[in-house]
Amino acid sequence: MRSPYFDDGHREFRAEVRAFLTAEVMPYAAGWEERDTVPAHVWKQFGERGLLGLLHPRAVGGGERDLFTSVVFLEELGRTGFGGLRAAVSVHAYMATQYLSMVGGQELCGAYLVPAVRGESLAALAITEPGAGTDLSGLGTTAVREGDRFMVTGTKSMVSNGMTADFFVTAVRTGPVTGGPRGTTGLSLLVIDAGLPGVGRAGRRTLGWRSAGTATVTFDAVRVPAGGLIGRLDHGFYYLMRGLQMERLVAATLAVGGMDRTLDELRAFLRARDVGGDALARKQALVHRVADLATDLAAARQLVHHTAWLFGQGELPAVECSMAKLHTTELACRLADTALQLQGSHGYLESSFAARAQRDARAATIAAGPSEVMRDVIGRAVLNRPAPGAGPAART
Ligand SMILES: Cc1cc2nc3c(=O)[nH]c(=O)nc-3n(C[C@H](O)[C@H](O)[C@H](O)COP(=O)(O)OP(=O)(O)OC[C@H]3O[C@@H](n4cnc5c(N)ncnc54)[C@H](O)[C@@H]3O)c2cc1C
Repeated sequence: MRSPYFDDGHREFRAEVRAFLTAEVMPYAAGWEERDTVPAHVWKQFGERGLLGLLHPRAVGGGERDLFTSVVFLEELGRTGFGGLRAAVSVHAYMATQYLSMVGGQELCGAYLVPAVRGESLAALAITEPGAGTDLSGLGTTAVREGDRFMVTGTKSMVSNGMTADFFVTAVRTGPVTGGPRGTTGLSLLVIDAGLPGVGRAGRRTLGWRSAGTATVTFDAVRVPAGGLIGRLDHGFYYLMRGLQMERLVAATLAVGGMDRTLDELRAFLRARDVGGDALARKQALVHRVADLATDLAAARQLVHHTAWLFGQGELPAVECSMAKLHTTELACRLADTALQLQGSHGYLESSFAARAQRDARAATIAAGPSEVMRDVIGRAVLNRPAPGAGPAART
């Protein structure tokens, strides 16, 4: 479908990315899922094509491309239908390294962001802990300043890329929580090199997102150079609040690409499957279900593109990011569930595209903020909006 957001350059880029993913990723990605890892040479292939630094500045080897170039890339990455791969790549290229671009100094970017953009060094984002996920005020991993180092102690859970990361962008407590039980002061972001003594990791087998190398990461009195601090001390919460909007937009864009794949596969199955002398694709009950899903997907895509457009204008559209993430990731669950049902017993095989889509879709309604939190953000914004005529018009 033609769209006002994409020009010929974007369309050419889409064709290039799709050709690369079709040739170099699709034939092998199922094997990576079995081994729960994306091999090192694949990261280099992404890096050589500039796909790990589309938004990062040219000074660090990035492409400094517009946001819709990333939308194209993420939709195509989603379209592979491999949730673990898309989590691994997006956590590296957009979620963890964005903080280095945002507020990391020249030295830190030179040491970590430059090799990350090339695909020579792998990044993970370590925020969640066994005792605190959505509630950032509950984070307990401490970083205590001792001379020219921070002494870091704590445990991070559900770290995507955790098993293979070369460094962790880590949320640490550097000061007390003030301002009540949901206070958000005293958090900082620190780059922790995975090779430092005291860093441990243990793989976790997850329902979906296989090949993302999910791990529990422990820091046992790790002595981290003070230069690893990203931005300013105790400003971590503010950086995370900005970064989380990007995470949600990325999650929504990947979900749209993933749904394209699921719908393509479903369409092929329904056209090929003959039941009682007629293709399933000719049964009106199924035609209508596909029509509803395709319509929901078209609407979801427009919401994502509109949100990306707002982002690209320099806004931080937190409500739209939450709406886009909520709507697309929940729709992806419904679409995967329907695809499985309409494939009958073929869909119930663990190896079916629908089963994988279902396993992967479930992760996305939790990671980067569960649906309940998205509804909280949206609901509060709607209810607190000024009444019509009571002031400047609220953005819709
Ligand atoms: C596959 C996967 C990959 C992940 N990758 C990473 C990663 O790379 N790095 C990282 O740091 N984290 C990662 N996470 C963790 C993820 O960000 C957290 O799971 C998420 O923030 C929720 O935190 P929690 O699991 O501790 O749930 P909790 O905070 O304990 O919440 C449990 C449930 O309670 C409900 N809930 C929570 N808060 C509210 C609220 N305010 N109102 C109403 N209901 C609420 C929701 O249903 C939520 O699912 C990943 C998670 C998954 C599933």
